[in-house]
Amino acid sequence: MVRMETVIGVDVGGTKVAAAVVGGGALAARVEHPTELGDGAALLDGIAAVVAEVEQGTARAAVVGVGLPSQIDFSSGTVVASANIPLQGVPVREELQRRLGRPVFVDNDANCAALAEAGLGGVDDLVMLTLGTGVGGGVVIDGQIFRGSSGLGAELGHIVIERDGPECPGACPSRGCLEAFCSGTALARDALAYAEAHPDSQLGRELAQEGRVSGRVATEAAQDGDPDALALLQQLGVSLGVGMAGLINIFEPQRLVIGGGLSAAGDLFMPQAISEAESRALPALYERVTIGLARGGADAGIIGAGTLAAHEFQRSNRGEG
Ligand SMILES: [Zn+2]
Repeated sequence: MVRMETVIGVDVGGTKVAAAVVGGGALAARVEHPTELGDGAALLDGIAAVVAEVEQGTARAAVVGVGLPSQIDFSSGTVVASANIPLQGVPVREELQRRLGRPVFVDNDANCAALAEAGLGGVDDLVMLTLGTGVGGGVVIDGQIFRGSSGLGAELGHIVIERDGPECPGACPSRGCLEAFCSGTALARDALAYAEAHPDSQLGRELAQEGRVSGRVATEAAQDGDPDALALLQQLGVSLGVGMAGLINIFEPQRLVIGGGLSAAGDLFMPQAISEAESRALPALYERVTIGLARGGADAGIIGAGTLAAHEFQRSNRGEG
């Protein structure tokens, strides 16, 4: 067993860059700054500056892990596609290693969050779905992130649950994907359609007053007891349960977690999701899984990026990397 080195985890989002020293699931010296969105070089300099700020007053970290909201070729650490931050085509791993003078590992933020959840849940086999603007996914098998052949795999939000369903709102040519039913974008689409068809409903009045209906408005209305908005969230839950049943059948995880911004309203749709998953998954597999909301909260990305860096650093020191 290699000694646990000091590790820094960095979570890069579309609005903020957060970083901290990660050890044993706890964070220290946490720092957060707005994301530099001007260009790739400014963003990379900003990430390096955040790392330097974390290290003021603490030991120099041996290795840094970075989670990005992007598709990443893991072995080279190059961003293949990125919608919300200006790093498309940038060899982020190499650029940050040059700026920081030590090993850096870069992965997709959903993968990092899944690794964090596996650690927090004390399990080696976990599937995570992240419900936000889109639907992200992460799979941990035997304690390791499953990435596919180059790092682009585990796009669980794009499994199809209805062949002729609505067009996928993501950068995806398919239709009827989980993302087309269970994302914030899908919820906003359904809330708008309902408001247009029922002008006398609470959502209809919201549309008349504000000129728009967002997923957040629908969620708040459901929390305030509007039965129509609640029905939309419950419908989302049923679709989620269909997807969960498929994932349980494929991966037989010990734990399946739901995270992302929408999970804050999980009490409105998780009962439907769980009952649908239970009615569809193969019983012997369903019996072995626990289902719940993500525990890492806002810091899951930092914890996961740090855990990833620690794993990969140990692996490379053992000569496997
Ligand atoms: Zn899709």
